[in-house]
Amino acid sequence: MSALAVDGGTPVRSTMLPYGRQSLDDDDLRAVLDVLRSDWLTTGPKVDEFERAFAQAVGANEAVAVSNGTAALHAAVHALGIGPGDEVVVPTMTFAASANAVLYEGGTPVFTDVDPKTLLINVARVTAKTKAIIAVDYAGQPCDYDALRAIGLPIIADASHALGGSDNGRPVGTLADLTTFSLHPVKHITTGEGGVITTNDAELATRMRRFRNHGISSDHRQREQQGSWFYEMVELGYNYRLTDFQCALGISQLRKLDERVQRRRAIAQRYDAAFRERSALTLLHTRPDVVHAYHLYPVLLNLEQLSAGRAEVFRALRAEGIGCNVHYIPVHLHPYYQQRFGTRGGMFPAAEDAYERMITLPMFASMSEQDVEDVIEAVGKVVTAYEARPVSCER
Ligand SMILES: *Cc1c(COP(=O)(O)O)cnc(C)c1O
Repeated sequence: MSALAVDGGTPVRSTMLPYGRQSLDDDDLRAVLDVLRSDWLTTGPKVDEFERAFAQAVGANEAVAVSNGTAALHAAVHALGIGPGDEVVVPTMTFAASANAVLYEGGTPVFTDVDPKTLLINVARVTAKTKAIIAVDYAGQPCDYDALRAIGLPIIADASHALGGSDNGRPVGTLADLTTFSLHPVKHITTGEGGVITTNDAELATRMRRFRNHGISSDHRQREQQGSWFYEMVELGYNYRLTDFQCALGISQLRKLDERVQRRRAIAQRYDAAFRERSALTLLHTRPDVVHAYHLYPVLLNLEQLSAGRAEVFRALRAEGIGCNVHYIPVHLHPYYQQRFGTRGGMFPAAEDAYERMITLPMFASMSEQDVEDVIEAVGKVVTAYEARPVSCER
């Protein structure tokens, strides 16, 4: 058995493989340049074009482009009219933005645990104050929206991980009242920063377009076309606009969505086959009849079989050149939430247990076959080394 790189052995890779990375081709760059040379850098024709292309890609009536995925969540929460005194159920196993968006509008996020096998939302309880549910398609797997809808509350899907996924042939983007996406470089397609909300409700879409433009009821281009200077601000909004050159990048990137998702799914299949039989690893369960879009590939370490904790395994993998990560620290454990809402360890055992044992492995469409094999080799090498060492009582 070769020595681990953390112990001075030769690493599996000489360069660090990141956990996620964008893919940009020449036609993407050309699309951006064309717009930079045009009259409209922002709030021009590419915004509508991108929104139409995005809506079509996910089979929704409406898509609203905003400046990032967090703004998308904020706009969705606003569109539902969430405000002070309103509670919104949010799974704790997510990125902090899913819960923060509720706070921006003065609402109260009420955390809930996740199913230990899928890490998808497990709604324990709703009350008269519960006004909505934010479900997170963790890792890229769509939640069971049929079950969530049966609760009878408006649902926002935070599908930042799940663009290109589907449930029984119904695409992510149509499964909830409002579905939000992020176009950050580690996500399936990117505009640098960017976000989109999809919905079938034209009125909600109108509200969100106004919200992203200061709460003003017409935009600059509409006024130009009408030859008018007049505008009215009818509510408090923000500047959450996405530029035309970002939208041009989005249009170009969208054309590659299907192949990107296929590639991620093929990598996941290879990982599944390599790791399924390793008793020191637990893989997450995929619900039947869903197309998992695999933004992330998390594995859970069965620590009782290993002489090292998650931190050591993490460090050992990094030393081998594998840029692993952890998604996520449960949101209720962040100091801000603990101090403001009195949340603490022990409240959500499934999410906390998963967090303690989790490592997310590199997953992005432009990974080469060799990159994938390097990850498999490094995980095998590190796990085997820690299985072989006697388990000590104090870790
Ligand atoms: C990426 C992400 C966001 C936020 O998206 P940004 O574009 O970075 O603002 C929100 N929720 C989840 C689950 C995410 O993964």
